[in-house]
Amino acid sequence: MLLRIHHSMSIGGGMQTFDYVATVDLGEAVRLLVEHGTTARILAGGTDLLADLKSSTDAPGLIIDISRVKALKVIVVTPQGLRIGAMVTHAEIMQSALIREHCPAMADAAHTIGAVQTRNLGTLGGNLVTAVPSMDSGATLVALDARAVLAGRSGTREMPLTEFFKGPRRTALRPDELLVAVVIPAGSLGKPAHFLKSGLRKGQALALVNAAASLWLDAEGCVKEPRIALGAVAPTVMRATGAERYLAGRLPLPESMVEAGKLAAEECKPISDFRATAAYRRDLVAVLVKRTLTQAYECALKRLRNGGDP
Ligand SMILES: Cc1cc2nc3c(=O)[nH]c(=O)nc-3n(C[C@H](O)[C@H](O)[C@H](O)COP(=O)(O)OP(=O)(O)OC[C@H]3O[C@@H](n4cnc5c(N)ncnc54)[C@H](O)[C@@H]3O)c2cc1C
Repeated sequence: MLLRIHHSMSIGGGMQTFDYVATVDLGEAVRLLVEHGTTARILAGGTDLLADLKSSTDAPGLIIDISRVKALKVIVVTPQGLRIGAMVTHAEIMQSALIREHCPAMADAAHTIGAVQTRNLGTLGGNLVTAVPSMDSGATLVALDARAVLAGRSGTREMPLTEFFKGPRRTALRPDELLVAVVIPAGSLGKPAHFLKSGLRKGQALALVNAAASLWLDAEGCVKEPRIALGAVAPTVMRATGAERYLAGRLPLPESMVEAGKLAAEECKPISDFRATAAYRRDLVAVLVKRTLTQAYECALKRLRNGGDP
């Protein structure tokens, strides 16, 4: 253990105390979680957690700071794919040569998160675990068939990211589990993909809608394995599977992209709130899906021109 202190801060309008532990060891972080269960909270970058604590009524029993756990900060290519540790920050995603080479759409998505300060502190793991429907990391990862790696009392387990998200602010994590990493499978590395976000401002705005699309081209130039993922228009990041089925095997003509956008707009489930109406969000989905697909197709053509697989 690196540090253990008794700490006070303003929680729910009054000063409350809790224990704070900083560790450098993943095993120890898991052990502490097992020991303290639901009374413990994980601290990564703290950009969401500190705001949550200030507005909650009860102090946690223990804060476990994992920001110095090196094992959670890796970005590495393995035979399984590209593994990105949960403690990798949005700024590190933007700067990573490996991420830029294998899945540049992820770096583009990271660039849209908050401002410099938020991107310097906020982590991929924190973004995914918070599980708000408007999160900006989710759509690209889902469009690349990414998997979540979890560690807990009974070892590690893995699942598609689509199964990790259970609902607004709900994930598959058990009380004794940490999100350790995300793996973009080897088969998705280099897959042409694109991410777009629409907010009320160009910067420092949560997404009204975000969308990511990925696709391969087959030998006839038709769309193969299309993926369309949407954020902020359903309780979790969702795949527009009807639009994907429509596109698979078709020539990537402009009218096919428009039709896929319309289908995605029909299958999403947006709500109306103070930021936008459901109808406006559906219109945005139609436009963003058409554009992300068109850009993913442009990437595929560029790959072909550069001598890569389609
Ligand atoms: C000003 C501002 C602007 C923002 N703009 C955006 C934006 O544009 N787009 C966007 O998507 N988000 C945005 N956010 C939200 C936030 O910054 C991100 O979600 C960030 O990635 C959270 O990461 P963190 O490391 O700070 O998480 P923390 O705040 O440390 O943790 C968040 C939650 O996840 C849990 N947790 C963290 N890591 C793990 C782990 N490895 N295993 C298990 N549980 C874990 C914590 O216990 C906590 O419940 C913004 C936040 C702020 C304050």
